[in-house]
Amino acid sequence: MNILISGASVAGPALAYWLRRHGFTPTVVERAEQVRDGGYAVDFRGEALDVLDRMGILDQVRALDTEMSDAALMDGDGKQYATLPAVVFAGDLEILKGDLTRILYEATRDDVEYVFGDSIASLEEDETGVHVTFERGEPRTFDLVVGADGLHSRTRALTFGPEEQFIRHLGIYTAIFSLDNYLGLTNTGQLYSVPGKAANIFSARHNTEARAALHFASDPLEYDRRDVAEHKRIVAERFADDGWQVPRLLREAADAQDFYFDANAQVEMERWSKGRVVLLGDAGYCAAPTSGRGTSQALIGAYILAGELAAAGGEHTAAYAAYEQQMRAYVSEHQQAGREGAKHFFMGTPTQEMLDMIAAGMPESVRGQAIRLKDYPVADRSTAASAG
Ligand SMILES: Cc1cc2nc3c(=O)[nH]c(=O)nc-3n(C[C@H](O)[C@H](O)[C@H](O)COP(=O)(O)OP(=O)(O)OC[C@H]3O[C@@H](n4cnc5c(N)ncnc54)[C@H](O)[C@@H]3O)c2cc1C
Repeated sequence: MNILISGASVAGPALAYWLRRHGFTPTVVERAEQVRDGGYAVDFRGEALDVLDRMGILDQVRALDTEMSDAALMDGDGKQYATLPAVVFAGDLEILKGDLTRILYEATRDDVEYVFGDSIASLEEDETGVHVTFERGEPRTFDLVVGADGLHSRTRALTFGPEEQFIRHLGIYTAIFSLDNYLGLTNTGQLYSVPGKAANIFSARHNTEARAALHFASDPLEYDRRDVAEHKRIVAERFADDGWQVPRLLREAADAQDFYFDANAQVEMERWSKGRVVLLGDAGYCAAPTSGRGTSQALIGAYILAGELAAAGGEHTAAYAAYEQQMRAYVSEHQQAGREGAKHFFMGTPTQEMLDMIAAGMPESVRGQAIRLKDYPVADRSTAASAG
């Protein structure tokens, strides 16, 4: 079976990996011209580590662990007034998202077709398959199509309708960018917060670089999602009067080549599939960065979707139903955690007592609802690599 996956970040390559292990033939189309590197740090908790292990890449991921230690909370004058325990922000294992994507890509590129710099333009389904046109490439027909193209999924829009119906805004905007580690941070970070605004800097890539984030509370804003200059202007206006390192961060942001800006939002859908098309990861059930579980969901969703397709012998209706049935409660709990996290995101200047209480509750609350992973029989890797 030929299966088209839209999106080569976390969910897409992870699904391609498992589909190959089960003997399917995936093709991955990614809008970016190449694998996206760097980016912000994402953490893994609980069962996602088990999936990385089953994929044989846990050691590679561990080798790139950011190994964060506790971070400092700073006031506007640059004085530390509290310490934030690492468990609160770095989970069981933390890695730059781009490093994870690269590991997943390298684990699959030899036996999966990747098409970069293109995007699905239209989808039309009949009893023979899904007829797909692309923005650049020639039209092709696939047995199934998977949307792993993130919060603003094109696959979802083409199949289910405009995103406004499915996106719940959580009242926070976030900007993230790379910069020099000019504070000389060693496996740690500094955070600054006032009511409705927060900023931070963390060291990255074994302290050779840093990542900064600027967050602010806001109702939904009207802006062009592709206009980075406009994003930078919005952020600069919001933080124009702030202290600590914020003036320097705004100067760095102005020159940043990898400036990310988006709302913290969730995707809520009654169904994740329609006909031969199914959604995976943030495209179908984004839990928002405030949940700290999006990467784990993407990895676990990929494992289950591929496993259920194999278990059903490629019969997609049964497989999609089983995938959804296994993932629903798990996703609901993380979305609930994401909403709670958003409510408490802007703490102003928290006391050490509050931070310690959050950390003490963390191991329980961050694990979320456990999901028991089934063992789907797979061909061994060498067989899978030469099959189909
Ligand atoms: C600031 C921030 C911090 C986060 N921190 C954490 C954390 O600590 N822990 C955690 O677990 N999660 C975290 N997350 C969430 C995590 O990044 C996502 O949940 C996870 O990356 C979802 O992966 P995905 O593959 O489903 O989607 P995405 O990573 O969004 O990938 C979608 C891919 O699809 C591509 N694409 C988009 N449109 C098209 C198109 N039309 N055609 C082809 N390709 C397309 C994109 O270029 C991208 O490569 C964070 C997210 C953000 C924004």
